[in-house]
Amino acid sequence: MDSNKSKFVDDENMKQAYQKYELLKNEVEQWQQERGSYWSAQISLAEQPPYLSIVDLPSEAIIELWQRLNLVAKAEISESALKEMLEQFNSGQNPMDAEMTTRVQMAVSGVAKLASLMADNKTIIKLQSNTVCPVCGEQSMLAAITPPNGKRMMQCTLCGFEWAVKRVGCLFCESEDAKQQIYLQNEAFPNVEMVVCQTCGQYFKEIDARELADKDYLWEDLKSLQLNFATKLWLKEQGKNPKLVN
Ligand SMILES: [Zn+2]
Ligand SMILES: [Zn+2]
Repeated sequence: MDSNKSKFVDDENMKQAYQKYELLKNEVEQWQQERGSYWSAQISLAEQPPYLSIVDLPSEAIIELWQRLNLVAKAEISESALKEMLEQFNSGQNPMDAEMTTRVQMAVSGVAKLASLMADNKTIIKLQSNTVCPVCGEQSMLAAITPPNGKRMMQCTLCGFEWAVKRVGCLFCESEDAKQQIYLQNEAFPNVEMVVCQTCGQYFKEIDARELADKDYLWEDLKSLQLNFATKLWLKEQGKNPKLVN
């Protein structure tokens, strides 16, 4: 994939995208500090995973945070309109533009993070599947190799929960035959690899976080989304059928 390198990096756009993302991220953190304990008191986790699925998150909390993100982006709209859009969004329709969609997704994540923090104090029952988040039930395809010992931790890009998985092999079909794993890389993203399993045709992204200064896995994932597209394309060219569509 190295010949595609020039397509991958556009520093100026990336800088602007990061600035926008950072502003919103800071607002989410501010909200969590101010309002987190209030909303956490209204959340209760289930006995079994998923401990709090997305559909059970309090929609008032999502709207409250969403509106704060809209204010930051100077795109405030009425709460009743937000309520209506959230209902549509939850039922799988999306009437919003890309930036509005990003803000609602960050609001959902920001609220889901409260559940993830509560789950940190709980003994987590491990699921059969490596790749389904035990807290919110979302499918993840992002793993990180973490310092200091290189433990492989699955990352939920929705609620931010992380859980340990085995260090080698495919996370989907458990194949440990190293010859069946292909690692796709691109110079533009030195700490990121796509791990493709030839046995089951699925793939996941792995971030080597041991030398990352800022452990913002969500941003690392967003920044390298093009690797996901390239992997899907590559699989198609190989005549394989990518099973996970992101
Ligand atoms: Zn989750
Ligand atoms: Zn596999």
